[in-house]
Amino acid sequence: MKEIITKSPEETKLLAENLIKKIKKPVLFCLYGDLGAGKTVFAKGIAAGMGIPEKDIKSPTYTFVRRYRKGKKTLYHFDFYRIEEVDELMVQDLEEIFQAGDAVMVMEWPGHIKEILPSVRVDIYFKYIDRNTRSIKFADDLK
Ligand code: ADP
Ligand code: MG
Repeated sequence: MKEIITKSPEETKLLAENLIKKIKKPVLFCLYGDLGAGKTVFAKGIAAGMGIPEKDIKSPTYTFVRRYRKGKKTLYHFDFYRIEEVDELMVQDLEEIFQAGDAVMVMEWPGHIKEILPSVRVDIYFKYIDRNTRSIKFADDLK
């Protein structure tokens, strides 16, 4: 695992922006970590890297997913914080999105849907260090 220490939200955003610009294809980012660890900040960086204004990115509060479009590109932002159990309808909807495989996806609290989590994904682990410092870990071959 590679560990990146960021010293501000801007740095976390930039890390995400650079990652998605480098990857340039559909990918599922699973973001692990406690509340306030920086997952949504990272999601905004992914959006920015795709040309989607970050101010448009709000945590999906009343739903567990929001979809954004930019030209031919699609971004799904999932947040399963409030989801305790996946019901059948959710499973159908999610599997449809996963199987299409044509979008960039960022997912907060992926552990809440672990029964149906695709095996092809990029896992990223966030940790609060202090007020402005976060540890972000991911597989060595990513960057
Ligand atoms: P999560 O989605 O993991 O619950 P958020 O991304 O919503 O967390 O919030 C992270 C909070 O921490 C924001 O208020 C952000 O400004 C702050 N923050 C401070 N330092 C950092 C950093 N290095 N990286 C990301 N966020 C940071
Ligand atoms: Mg969040």
